[in-house]
This record gives sequence, structure tokens and C-alpha cells, in this order.
Amino acid sequence: MIHFIGAGPGAADLITVRGARLLGAAGQILYAGSLVNPALLEYARPGCRVANTASMTLEEVLAAMEEAESRGEDTVRLHTGDPSLYGAIREQMDALERRGIPYDVTPGVSSFSGAAAALRAEYTLPDVSQSVIITRMAGRTPVPEGEALRKLAAHGCTMVLFLSAGLLEGVERELLAGGYAPDTPAAIVYKATWPEEKVCRCTVSTLARTAGENGISKTALITVGHFLGNAYERSKLYDPTFTHGCRKGTEG
Ligand code: SAH
Repeated sequence: MIHFIGAGPGAADLITVRGARLLGAAGQILYAGSLVNPALLEYARPGCRVANTASMTLEEVLAAMEEAESRGEDTVRLHTGDPSLYGAIREQMDALERRGIPYDVTPGVSSFSGAAAALRAEYTLPDVSQSVIITRMAGRTPVPEGEALRKLAAHGCTMVLFLSAGLLEGVERELLAGGYAPDTPAAIVYKATWPEEKVCRCTVSTLARTAGENGISKTALITVGHFLGNAYERSKLYDPTFTHGCRKGTEG
């Protein structure tokens, strides 16, 4: 069968225990080489077939899966981060359904979690933002009109932009048009959890300049919002006066 596995954001030990176990048992590994850390291939068993799918088409990927099936071997399809985000797994799963080939999915640590760790930040702070918008700037892949960046920016909440590090002039324009003040804190996180990780803190109006100065144009996330600032309320959950299911508070 086919196992879709989230490889995690970069560091090889950020794959899940289940993912590592399946990697170690596979007869074939198809990995998205543009972003998956090749160090993960060290989990493979001796003799495992390994192919980098960066230069392959969907049809070629499916053909390799079918071949392994006919040999009676399991294939691991290794996607960066968590496969449910910008992973192009739906089209693979649908094709496998049509061919009657069984598959399952093992989640992974997304790069947006890796970026929060690199920033030592919490995306959802009381009184600051209780929502995270994950999106991208429209580029060669269009974004539905209802999700235009400036419309989403109007919420003023925490935002994480994937696949947009090369489009930062447009990102700045859209975020400002949507209503973020120019001095709203922002950060560019390059290759979160990789040895070459880089964190650049800036503001919405200096995103493009900051990326340019640091030579960053890809493999980065853009995070935006006051979660990067210093003002917030402490949580109710650990407030001594607050009563909840697991603890009686000193008031009320
Ligand atoms: N499924 C992946 C995202 C794939 S889309 C996930 O869950 O993370 C590829 C985009 O993800 C890149 O253009 C970049 O914006 C982001 N990305 C992937 N790995 C990254 C990392 N280690 N650090 C920062 N951004 C990363």
C-alpha cells in the first residue's frame, strides 16, 4: 500500500515516530526533494528504492507507485511539513482510489509550527488574536477572489503566508490595503528547524526590504500580527481566580 507521510519542517528528528517506523519498513520511498531533508532517508532500510520526485510528473509518481504495488512492496510518499497543506496529495489519493490501491496518511509537523518554535512565539494570544489565517499570495497558482490577501488581512489577526517569499512587494501592498498598520510586527522565517534557519523580525512595511537584505526569496514563511509584539493578557486557564473543569478558582 501507499503511506503518505509528513516529513516535518526540516530537522530529521521532527518526523513522527510512526512516520519514521513506516519509512524504515518501506520498499520504495518517493520524496519531494525540493523541501524534504535528505537526512530522513537514513531511516530507510538497506535496499530500499529511493526517488526524488522534484522533477517527476503526477503520472510518473503514480507509475512508480503502481510498479511497487505489483512487486508487493509498500511505498512511502514523503511530503514536507504536514501533507494537508499545499501538499498536492488529494490528486494522488483520488488516482489511487480509481486504481483500487490502498493508502493511508501520517500527519507531520507543519513548517508553520516550526516557524513558531523558531520565533519562540504563540500565534494565539488572549486579547491579541485567537485565529490564525494560513494562506498564500496569488502567484502562478491563483487564489479564489474571496480569499484575496487584502480581504483576509482585514481581520487583523495572526497570518501565516506560505509560498509567498518571492512576492513580498505584493504582499506588503495587499496587507496594507487590507488594514494592517505599516508598523505591525512581522517576521520572515527561512528554513525553520534546518541548520541554516534564519529569523528576520521586521514590520509589514519592511517585509520586502528585509527579505532582500537577507537574500531570502524562497523556503520561508511570512508571519504577521501583534502576536509578535509584547502586549497580551495572561490566560484564564492558569489564572488562580478562574474556575474550570480541572481546578476550583479563588473567586466566583
Ligand atoms: N506541507 C508543507 C508546506 C508545503 S508548501 C508544510 O506543512 O509546511 C512549501 C512552502 O512551505 C514553502 O514555499 C515555504 O513557504 C514553506 N516551508 C516549507 N518548509 C519550510 C521551512 N522549514 N521553513 C519555512 N518555510 C517553509
